[in-house]
Amino acid sequence: MKLILLGAPGAGKGTVAKLLAEMDGSVQISTGDILRGAVTAGTELGKQIESLMKSGDLVPDELIMDIMEQRLQEPDCEKGFLLDGFPRTIPQAEALKGLLAKLGIELDMAVNLEVAREVILDRLTTRRTCSNSDCQAIYNVKSNPSRQAGICDKCGSPVIQRDDETAEAISHRLQTYVEKTAPLIGFYEKEGLLLTVDAAGPSETVLAAIGAKLAAA
Ligand code: ADP
Ligand code: ZN
Repeated sequence: MKLILLGAPGAGKGTVAKLLAEMDGSVQISTGDILRGAVTAGTELGKQIESLMKSGDLVPDELIMDIMEQRLQEPDCEKGFLLDGFPRTIPQAEALKGLLAKLGIELDMAVNLEVAREVILDRLTTRRTCSNSDCQAIYNVKSNPSRQAGICDKCGSPVIQRDDETAEAISHRLQTYVEKTAPLIGFYEKEGLLLTVDAAGPSETVLAAIGAKLAAA
């Protein structure tokens, strides 16, 4: 499948993308994971974006498009991909449309994961992420803790709270979402690609709604 996952920070894009990827071998592409990996590795790109990311600001569109133009041409994308955290602005969505046309790739749909703000705030403050940049497994101290506190089940690395998950950075990220990313819902509706799913409940409900829509297509 070739999907875009839309939704506020904490809506569950990463969790849903990982589950969908397991179902049919499509690859999850998370721009947030790629960018955090660059920061941890201390690459030139990483140094350039570190402070932007820490404060919850977006990375410039041109940088993201350079990364994604290369990423979408890697062989593992042939089976399908789940775009998690990209596109995030109207210019990125326009550029993606041009890029996909150039590469001859057709999207199945853009799934909007809808969750109330209170739920988002609660999820983000209780979210924990594996510090190993090759893993980045997601946990939640309330609803999905690691088996051993502070240790990743998958790779044994420390599980931490992300730098941009302080109360201040969270509220900034939510504001950025409303201003820059929420307009993509209208964009994909016009494209005839939008599926809105209630994502307040368990991820199984979300997967079922996506599966039903794909089957009906
Ligand atoms: P979340 O969806 O939980 O906010 P992500 O892991 O998707 O987190 O993104 C973390 C940060 O990475 C963002 O706050 C932003 O700084 C940067 N980022 C990720 N994807 C993009 C993108 N497509 N465009 C610009 N910045 C991005
Ligand atoms: Zn891990």
